[in-house]
Amino acid sequence: MQIPYVDLAAQHAPLKAELLSAVAEVLDSGQFVLGPAVAEFEKALAELCQTPHAIGVNSGTDALVLALQAMGIGPGDEVITPTNSFVASASAIALVGARPVLADVGDDYQLSPQAFEAAISPHTQAVIPVHLTGHPAPMAEILEIAKAHQLWVLEDAAQAIRAEYQGQRVGSLGHAGAFSLHPLKTLNACGDGGALTLSNPEWLDAILLRRNLGLRSRNDCEVWSSNSRLDSLQAAMLQVKLRHLENWTLKRRTNAALYRSCLADIPQVKCPIETPAAFAVYHTFVIRAQQRDKLQAFLSEKGIGTAIHYPVPIHLQTVGKALGYQYGDFPQAEQQAKEILSLPIYPELNSEQILRVSEAIRQFYR
Ligand SMILES: *Cc1c(COP(=O)(O)O)cnc(C)c1O
Repeated sequence: MQIPYVDLAAQHAPLKAELLSAVAEVLDSGQFVLGPAVAEFEKALAELCQTPHAIGVNSGTDALVLALQAMGIGPGDEVITPTNSFVASASAIALVGARPVLADVGDDYQLSPQAFEAAISPHTQAVIPVHLTGHPAPMAEILEIAKAHQLWVLEDAAQAIRAEYQGQRVGSLGHAGAFSLHPLKTLNACGDGGALTLSNPEWLDAILLRRNLGLRSRNDCEVWSSNSRLDSLQAAMLQVKLRHLENWTLKRRTNAALYRSCLADIPQVKCPIETPAAFAVYHTFVIRAQQRDKLQAFLSEKGIGTAIHYPVPIHLQTVGKALGYQYGDFPQAEQQAKEILSLPIYPELNSEQILRVSEAIRQFYR
C-alpha cells in the first residue's frame, strides 16, 4: 500500500458531483471572465480572512506583484523576504523592478525579526513575511519593526489560508496579503489561481484596474498592465471547496498532532514548532531529520512519498547568486535545508497511514 505525498484524487472523489454541478452552472451562464462566480468567491474569501476586501487574480505570484505595484514599489527600492521561501516571494520583488533583499529565519522556519531589522537600508520600502508551512510568521515583532521604519507589510500567505496569529487571520495582519490557489495549496483550484486581501482600501481601485490590463472602461486604458484575472470556472469550484476548508484544516491539525505523539520519542527527528501565538494550518508538516536524504530514500522504498520544501534556499539559486549572495550568508536557512523533510499531511490521510509513516521512520533509525 502506497502512501503518496499528496493525493488530489482522494480530495476530489467525494466532491465530484458538487464540483461538476458548479462547473455546469458557469457553462450555462456563459460568463467566464470576472462574472458573478468570481464576485461570490471574493466575498466568501474576504469573510474567511476577516478583511474588508479580497480580489481574485490568476496566481499567487501575481497577487504579490499587484500588491507591490499598489504600494508604489519599483526600481531603486528594496524589499526584504526570507531566503527559505518558494522563489515566487522574491521573484515578485524583482518583477516590479525592485531588489529582493533576503534574510535568515528562526527555528520556527519563519523570517527572523532580528534578521529582518538588520537587513533594513535607506532603500527598504516593504517586507514580505512568508507564513511558511502554514504557520504564521512572528507578526507582532515584524509589524513593530516595520512601523518604526515606515515599511509596508505584505503577507505571503500562499501556504497559510485560515491560519491565525493571536486570534487574527493571516492576510488581515499586514497592509495586504497574497494567497495562492494552485492545485497543491491548501485551498486549491483545478488549475492556477490566486487572491489578494487588503486592509488598506485605498489600493482596491488600483488592483482591480491592474488585474484587468489597466482598463478603466472598454476603450480607456489608464495604466500599462497585464491580464491577471481569476477564471470563473475556477472561482465556482473554489466556492465549493471553501465550504470544506474548515473541516480540512481541522483534519490537518489532527494529523499533525498524531505525528507529534508518534514521533516524540525518536531523538533523531524534531517536529515543527507551533508557537503559542499561532494557529497553524499545516500546509506542510516539516520535520528536521538526521540523515535526511537516506531517510527519504528509505521511506520511498517503503512506498511513502515525502517532499523537501525547499532544498535550495533562494540565495543559493542562480538568481540569488546573481544578487551577490553566497554560501554562508544565512546559516540557519542553510542548515535547515539539509535537514527538512515534509511528511504527507493531507486531510484525507487516516490515522493508520500516519502510524505507518511514523513506524517506518522509527525503523530507519533503529
Ligand atoms: C505557491 C507559492 C507562491 C506562488 O503561488 P503561485 O500561485 O504558484 O504563483 C508564492 N509564495 C509561496 C510561499 C508559495 O508557496
